[in-house]
Amino acid sequence: MNNVRRWIKPAIQAMKAYQVPASTGMIKLDAMENPYSLPDALKQQWCSELKNVEVNRYPDAQAVLLKKKLREVMAIPEDMGIVLGNGSDELIQIIAMALAQPDRTYIAPEPSFVMYQYIAGIVDVRFAGVPLNNDDFSLDRNTMLDAIEEHQPAVIFLAYPNNPTGNLFDKTIIIDVVRNAPGLVVLDEAYHAYSRESFIPRLDRFENLLVLRTLSKSGLAGLRLGFLAGSPEWLNEFEKIRLPYNINVLSQMTAEFILSHHEVLDAQTQQVCRSRETLFSNLIQIDGIQVWPSSANFILFRPRAQKANDIFAGLRQQGILIKNLHGSHPALSQCLRVTVGTESENTAFITALKQLL
Ligand SMILES: *Cc1c(COP(=O)(O)O)cnc(C)c1O
Repeated sequence: MNNVRRWIKPAIQAMKAYQVPASTGMIKLDAMENPYSLPDALKQQWCSELKNVEVNRYPDAQAVLLKKKLREVMAIPEDMGIVLGNGSDELIQIIAMALAQPDRTYIAPEPSFVMYQYIAGIVDVRFAGVPLNNDDFSLDRNTMLDAIEEHQPAVIFLAYPNNPTGNLFDKTIIIDVVRNAPGLVVLDEAYHAYSRESFIPRLDRFENLLVLRTLSKSGLAGLRLGFLAGSPEWLNEFEKIRLPYNINVLSQMTAEFILSHHEVLDAQTQQVCRSRETLFSNLIQIDGIQVWPSSANFILFRPRAQKANDIFAGLRQQGILIKNLHGSHPALSQCLRVTVGTESENTAFITALKQLL
């Protein structure tokens, strides 16, 4: 034990491991997964193609075919590069490693995606959270520009839409942030399938802007595939850190296959968007909760009288798992986040919630 204390970096010793709650057998509305599986016919075709995958061989380190397909389906301009990650979390880690120096700071609005701060901690870089506006979690131009002036951040992470609040930040403020940033701005479009808003078409206008995407939230969370798009000058440096075989043969083959049938995922995510509107209108009709509008596949809400802990536990007792955000950040006091599920899952959730209130 003494050896562990002596040798593990103090910054790591001070951290708490990222916790994922058990969810077996539950209605899972906690992790922004697409609730639909693939149609049977497509699954069969996929399985028959899987037979041709040679698992005794290393994957294509450059994943040429998969990148070509991504470029086509995601409309990534020819002059922009692509780096693939084992989930976009890995790309956040690669960026964080590439720019890490002891005297540097990374910033992100807060509350936002916890991985930005978590990974800054791993690479031993200072992290400064910049508060979002109180009422609606919008990005405040002056607060953000002041933080840039003060911290001279090497990297600014912006989730667009933001997790866990669900809102899209104002485009003109994002552009001001990019123009005033001394370093890199990473626009994390993890929920693009549900917001349909993107800066990928504008990448060529901003030398210090990169766009991060993932296939996780749109239906392939189990595959672990994310990508970073932007100028090759930046991306060539990140390629040096990416381990050569980070995207395994099964993920490469499967992602390429499913992207060739992307209309299936598009139909599913459109259904989720319709269900989001139904879920939202059901939630705002309930007395005693505050609800925030969402451009993603989850909704943030706050019971006014009850404790979030009690609602969370009550739902879990009925087999429904959502995310309890109480305690994660002062601005999220008594807040809960529910992922949009299937129509029947959403109904089960609304029914159980009404009983608990
Ligand atoms: C879920 C999420 C990610 C991570 O996605 P993976 O590709 O599954 O690692 C990244 N950014 C935001 C904002 C997210 O909510």
